[in-house]
Amino acid sequence: MSKFSKERTLVIVKPDGVQRSLIGEIIGRFEKVGLKLVGLKITVPTEDHVEKHYTLDPSWRQVTGEKTIESYRKNGKTPPSEDPQEITAVILENLKKYLTSGPSIVMVWQGAHSVGLVRKIVGGTEPLSSDVGTIRGDYVMDSYEMSDTDDRAIRNLIHASGSVDEANNEINHWFSGDELVDYRLVGEQILYDVNLDGILE
Ligand code: GDP
Ligand code: MG
Repeated sequence: MSKFSKERTLVIVKPDGVQRSLIGEIIGRFEKVGLKLVGLKITVPTEDHVEKHYTLDPSWRQVTGEKTIESYRKNGKTPPSEDPQEITAVILENLKKYLTSGPSIVMVWQGAHSVGLVRKIVGGTEPLSSDVGTIRGDYVMDSYEMSDTDDRAIRNLIHASGSVDEANNEINHWFSGDELVDYRLVGEQILYDVNLDGILE
């Protein structure tokens, strides 16, 4: 089996995705591209667990704050603060409320380029501007304008790890080793085998 087939990524169907009955649709998208589900649970995390999830990367507060300030400016708007950490503190509070509001589905998907592939299928952070054909682009219409006006987190249905390192840290945060299953999918032969031996009789 190709060494590429081992890459893993964490995906969360957030509470709005569960309430919108999109679990099956979302799982189907990842199955159809050829990824393998190796971990799955339904859970209502604590606020502390949510905060740790977002701050596993120590630079997340600064980077997210800077990104948000920049996106306000790009849209000709004045950011609520010039301090990235202050901006992120508000975003994090809203994310804690959002992700503890009901059950989420937490999954680990495995396969070649799974991190980038899942991000491509999920689409950009803001549903309003994410591409047509992506999950966020096709199944929800929330915007920063609307969520900021109502002082809440943007409802974008899904979380997906942003890099292989982030994925490894997030998988360890949500799953213990014995909750993940190593197994073979028969369909993997057509995706990864070099010679495709054993098909013709
Ligand atoms: P993701 O990986 O596409 O989910 O995006 P990030 O990792 O950059 O951000 C994590 C979460 O923080 C997002 O899902 C949003 O809920 C929130 N967030 C990120 N950037 C912004 C922003 O510019 N404005 C607001 N209101 N929330 C943001
Ligand atoms: Mg992210």
